[in-house]
Amino acid sequence: MEKKRVLITGAAGFLGSHLCDRFIKDGFHVIAMDNLITGRLSNIEHLFPNENFEFYHQDVSQFIHVPGKLDYILHFASPASPIDYLKIPIQTLKVGSLGIHNCLGLARVKNARVLIASTSEVYGDPEVHPQTEEYWGNVNPIGPRGVYDEAKRFQEAMTMAYHTYHGLETRIVRIFNTYGPRMRLNDGRVLPAFIGQSLRGEDLTVFGDGSQTRAFCYVDDLIEGIVRLLFSDYSDPVNIGNPDEITIGEFAEEIIKLTGTSQKVIYKDLPVNDPKQRQPDITKAKEILDWSPKVSREEGLKLTYEYFKSLSEEELHHKEHNNFDAYIK
Ligand code: UDP
Repeated sequence: MEKKRVLITGAAGFLGSHLCDRFIKDGFHVIAMDNLITGRLSNIEHLFPNENFEFYHQDVSQFIHVPGKLDYILHFASPASPIDYLKIPIQTLKVGSLGIHNCLGLARVKNARVLIASTSEVYGDPEVHPQTEEYWGNVNPIGPRGVYDEAKRFQEAMTMAYHTYHGLETRIVRIFNTYGPRMRLNDGRVLPAFIGQSLRGEDLTVFGDGSQTRAFCYVDDLIEGIVRLLFSDYSDPVNIGNPDEITIGEFAEEIIKLTGTSQKVIYKDLPVNDPKQRQPDITKAKEILDWSPKVSREEGLKLTYEYFKSLSEEELHHKEHNNFDAYIK
């Protein structure tokens, strides 16, 4: 039987690369696309020898052309950490707007189903806790996070419009904090920051007083949720995340215990508009997808720490993994 063909944008990134692995494993033909600003070829180079894998070095914000049939498009291209989208704000806005427009246009031509990566950031600094899909959010459009939050909100609006007015098959996943192997060590996210600091013998930087909360989902659980959503018939947004909530201060203590570092916690200013609390309500995912996370934080953190420990000294001390300069216009 002819293989189903899936286009994955942002394929060389953290989540994109795990999706590539999953779809190859499940017998798909995978067309991976990335402009490699924040993605890294090392995340997917093990797939290059596979005849069912092809890579397009392309910016999805520009016109995209993919020959042949396409069954599914997964739009995962976007900077996704506060440091990244502060460095490349315009590209962040473009990939969430022009990028999704190109994907949706391509999907119409190919009669493909589209799944977009949305985010808990659409809820902003939430006044409703835990966050249900019905909550509309508390976002500052002109704050430093606005370029990401509003791009993702626009992306949802655009996707729903194609669904409603063009009858396109669409799926929207709202991804909460996720961690695991292949996160970039210096992307500014809290987990690689703390583990990197431990491995380099530096103090752990907690922003604010550490009382803000997050709930961390292991990447394998997230990927399973996304695959289930793609093959479901549900077109409204679905939260996927692990509701096990923790303060950032407690999280720092867990990392100190895990890594056995003798370093201490130091406190820095809380970034502007940093959400005070975040926890997914996953009732919908449970009911509609029969999905809930399986990997405990203890287990997931161990697996993630193993990955970071396996990095070379050079990578560990490298300050910049990104290739922003070539793309800043
Ligand atoms: N954070 C921290 N120290 C760091 C990096 C992040 O205390 O070195 C905090 C950050 O202010 C936020 C939380 O950890 O409250 C999660 O940050 P991350 O950037 O990972 O994700 P997001 O804020 O988008 O949930």
